[in-house]
Amino acid sequence: MALLEIRNVTRRFGSYTAVDNVSISVEAGEFFTLLGPSGCGKTTLLRMIAGFDLPDSGQILLDGRDMVGTPPEKRPVHTVFQTYALFPHMTVADNIAFPLKMAGKKTHEIKTRVADALDSVRLSNFGNRFPNELSGGQKQRVAFARGLVNRPRLLLLDEPLGALDAKLREEMQMELINLQKEVGVTFVFVTHAQNEALALSHRIAVMNRGNVEQIDEPSKIYGFPRNRFVADFIGKISMMSAQVLEASPTHLRLDVGDMGEVTTAGKEGIKAGDKGTIAIRPEQILISHPSEAPRLKNHFLGKVQDFLYAGDVTTYIVELANGAYMEALLPNSAPGRAKFFEVGDPVSVSWHHDAGIFLND
Ligand code: ATP
Repeated sequence: MALLEIRNVTRRFGSYTAVDNVSISVEAGEFFTLLGPSGCGKTTLLRMIAGFDLPDSGQILLDGRDMVGTPPEKRPVHTVFQTYALFPHMTVADNIAFPLKMAGKKTHEIKTRVADALDSVRLSNFGNRFPNELSGGQKQRVAFARGLVNRPRLLLLDEPLGALDAKLREEMQMELINLQKEVGVTFVFVTHAQNEALALSHRIAVMNRGNVEQIDEPSKIYGFPRNRFVADFIGKISMMSAQVLEASPTHLRLDVGDMGEVTTAGKEGIKAGDKGTIAIRPEQILISHPSEAPRLKNHFLGKVQDFLYAGDVTTYIVELANGAYMEALLPNSAPGRAKFFEVGDPVSVSWHHDAGIFLND
């Protein structure tokens, strides 16, 4: 039985449907992420799991029990917010002890549990400090410790790393992965940052306008997006309209407008005549001097329109002869190498047939 089961949950605000008939199951021990653009309904869904808000229809079950009549403080759930929500006039230790005191735990038990919680977030020497004496990352670690001290069945995390700068955010991502492994508590994490979702999660639900577009492991979400929205929202991708000319279990032959024919991997349920999109990730596209192009079926000439140097990699934007644009990524793996091509250089782009993803309309 799933630990958390969201069954056909809908939430409307006036005539606006913020969460539209959503069903999700989260297994015990999972790091599960709700990912989607601003306004897609992630926070609304999280608030209903926590009990701060109620569905208009549908059910939320924890350990098989319907939570409908259970107020937030009685649910075995804790929420960590982006703003930390620490009490400024209390020490770190008292902040962490707060949920235990509310639950009426004995003093000696509180002491041991707070010490353990401080230890788990590597803040053992910070118990006597006040929140304003901590960095952003340390405050967030206190918030995690407070969230876990009561040993909830489920920890809900609403953009908890959103206020941190990029470097600290990356450090905290590693810590969060380790913390979740250590404590074994089920995490439901909300973010609009796709990299963060890919790095942290066991599974991701991609949301759009109150609906779930796809639920899968990170590598499936990235490598096999179900539709244009998921392909476009997660990572970079070049997309072109296409029509299926011929379909076999291993190959699809596509007509991609005036670009000509493209061959891509076979896909179940696709037949000749179907319309859709061919999508290819920049790191799957080989860019080379036209004279050195690899002998691949999918092979087109173009010229470098622009490039973006990012230190470890350079992304080239290539304009093809038919006016379409494709992005190709090259690692700057040779020492000191910043770029291989200049704007205006004639180049060839090619890719293996199974690197292309056909998304039907
Ligand atoms: P963000 O990443 O910006 O926090 P989100 O995906 O968490 O976005 P929600 O906060 O769940 O989005 O909001 C979903 C939609 O519901 C939004 O259009 C929002 O304006 C609307 N909404 C949320 N709460 C209310 C409310 N109490 N009253 C009216 N509309 C609301």
